[in-house]
Amino acid sequence: MTLEDWHTHNEMCHHADGSIEDYLKQAIKSQLQTLGVSDHFPYEFLTNIERIPYEEYAITLPEIEDYLSTAEKLKEKYKTTLNVRIGFEVDYFKNQAFALNNHLNKIKNRLDYILGSIHILNFRDGRGAWGFDDSRFKKDFEYYGPQQVYINYYKKLQNMVKSEDFDFDIVGHLDLPKKFNDNPTNKEIVFDEIMNTLELIKARNKTIEVNTGGLRKPCKEQYPSEKIIKEMYSLDIPIVLGSDSHKPKDIAWKFKKTLKILKKIGYNHLVHFNKRKRSFIEI
Ligand SMILES: [Zn+2]
Ligand SMILES: [Zn+2]
Repeated sequence: MTLEDWHTHNEMCHHADGSIEDYLKQAIKSQLQTLGVSDHFPYEFLTNIERIPYEEYAITLPEIEDYLSTAEKLKEKYKTTLNVRIGFEVDYFKNQAFALNNHLNKIKNRLDYILGSIHILNFRDGRGAWGFDDSRFKKDFEYYGPQQVYINYYKKLQNMVKSEDFDFDIVGHLDLPKKFNDNPTNKEIVFDEIMNTLELIKARNKTIEVNTGGLRKPCKEQYPSEKIIKEMYSLDIPIVLGSDSHKPKDIAWKFKKTLKILKKIGYNHLVHFNKRKRSFIEI
């Protein structure tokens, strides 16, 4: 069985345990063919993020070189036993692509893939940007309520997918607002927005991550739900598997069980990236 984990963090982002090499060693122990190193891209150049403790959210700009050169050296060192692919998980912020690209463009030729994700919302009502998947912002989640959070999130995700100047390959943890098990009051309206999002992803020919990290969270379910994965399959949207590991032991978390679900739905291929080029592997 081919196992590839495309979503992993490490101690460089300031909220995960273990070095990049610790994750590689665990991946080899777990008999993975490929490990994607995809730590959080820096935030400090963004504006309007005053309330975000971003120094704990991501690596910093001066650390980018160390991150890349460490991963590149390890890629070479382990090349006979493991494919190491190097990427970043990048947050989308509307109207801030210029600042982002300023930094990202300098190193993009060294990346195999980019995960595009949303962790931060800003309702522009004066309260300021907040991290909806960070339990420290629980009060903001309660203030807006799940319905508004879900809708705002999917609208932002749609903007990300549509954005010509936001360069990414994979949509990360698509239904992340369910993390703490907060359900929207009108599920139909939210589902319509999910379908609109999937259609945009299909139109732009992007890949979606099936992220098993959700199985370790209160929602106890992979991102996205089986219901959404079935719609992705009908739209013929390709997928990758990611564990969202913040500890080496979480590498390939519940991948075998999740692969069974994917096969039952009909998927028989997963995506592989090499220098931003997409190919397919059989499952
Ligand atoms: Zn993280
Ligand atoms: Zn994420």
